[in-house]
Amino acid sequence: MSQNSLITTNTQNLEQEYDYIIVGQGLAGSCLALQLANKEKSFLVFNEGGGHCASRVAGGLINPITGRKMVLTWRAHELFPYLHTFYKKAEQTLGSKFLFEVPIYRPFLTIEEQNEWQGKSTEKHYLPFINRVTTTAEKENMVEDSFGGLLLNNSGYLDTGVFLDSVADWLTKEKRYINERFDLNLINFRGREVVYKGVKAERIIFCDGTGGNTNPYLKEIKFRPVKGEVLKIELEQDLKKIYNRGVFVMPREGYNMVGSNYNHEDLSWTPTKEGREEIEEKLKTLLKIPYNVVEHKAGVRPSVSDRRPVLGPCKDYEQLVVFNGLGTKGVSLAPFFSEQLANWLCNGQELDKEVSVERFFS
Ligand SMILES: Cc1cc2nc3c(=O)[nH]c(=O)nc-3n(C[C@H](O)[C@H](O)[C@H](O)COP(=O)(O)OP(=O)(O)OC[C@H]3O[C@@H](n4cnc5c(N)ncnc54)[C@H](O)[C@@H]3O)c2cc1C
Repeated sequence: MSQNSLITTNTQNLEQEYDYIIVGQGLAGSCLALQLANKEKSFLVFNEGGGHCASRVAGGLINPITGRKMVLTWRAHELFPYLHTFYKKAEQTLGSKFLFEVPIYRPFLTIEEQNEWQGKSTEKHYLPFINRVTTTAEKENMVEDSFGGLLLNNSGYLDTGVFLDSVADWLTKEKRYINERFDLNLINFRGREVVYKGVKAERIIFCDGTGGNTNPYLKEIKFRPVKGEVLKIELEQDLKKIYNRGVFVMPREGYNMVGSNYNHEDLSWTPTKEGREEIEEKLKTLLKIPYNVVEHKAGVRPSVSDRRPVLGPCKDYEQLVVFNGLGTKGVSLAPFFSEQLANWLCNGQELDKEVSVERFFS
């Protein structure tokens, strides 16, 4: 069932007391809902179905070695094994397929880079993420790779649309889903609890993505949103792996996805001519075969100044909690940190200082 066809459930018909209310059902809200269900907690999710949702624009790339300098991503040794287990278990729970393990090939730009990675590929630190280093071009002849490249393990993509629709369907069946905008002005504080339109809960958890920018309870957080655009393209030949250098080209069912760029100035959710040109320019330096653009989308990533997730209780409001700051890597961050937040909520387990919202309070 698509997000738009979800039937709005009337709040009046629902049980009126929950452990938690979750606001937002992007990657953050979806992963947290699965974690809380696993801990047998009761909760209700409010999500504005037609609202801005970065998770529905995302390429869904799972990439342990990122950026122009090709560095191992932050906490990769914890995040990557965890995300595979998490999404596979979610596939069983939800009865659908959304995790695709696909190798990523990163062509080298220079002979120095090739030498450097030949050395690094034997280091223990990189071993789980490297399949092999090649020193000559691939015989498929699809991309510019005269110096060979780095083939990665532990990589692939999450079909975020299928994942979010599957979570929404499950929540709807369980009567835990309200497809409407949550009005922040209607929160009533009653002792240690909160009441929203007659629904009582211990805590409200804001998984509101870029909605956090204008959420008055999150005003201490230094949000630094980043716009990105993606293209759907058709190719005459099928790709067997994801290619990534400057941009990624990813084979999906019946089409290929290309992304992305980074814009801190224009924060609209509208695709632009400039954005498309920037992506296509990089695509042309990577891909050797002709392509045809069939769709163009834009979205804004919920990033913060230090580019780390943000978890924990809002300043002066213990009943209000945030799970945000997933930035450019929501697919790999959301599983691990939703568990950390669920452990804090349910068992009082301490949050890592690096991700605790308290770093913004002074
Ligand atoms: C172009 C682009 C490409 C990307 N590519 C990748 C990628 O390849 N790999 C990767 O890991 N990450 C990628 N990302 C980043 C990823 O999309 C984000 O990290 C992630 O989606 C953030 O999830 P979220 O749940 O915090 O926010 P969102 O997905 O934005 O979800 C927030 C939800 O909250 C709802 N909401 C907000 N306020 C309210 C309210 N008051 N009431 C009810 N509902 C509300 C919104 O409607 C939305 O559904 C990309 C992002 C973009 C824009």
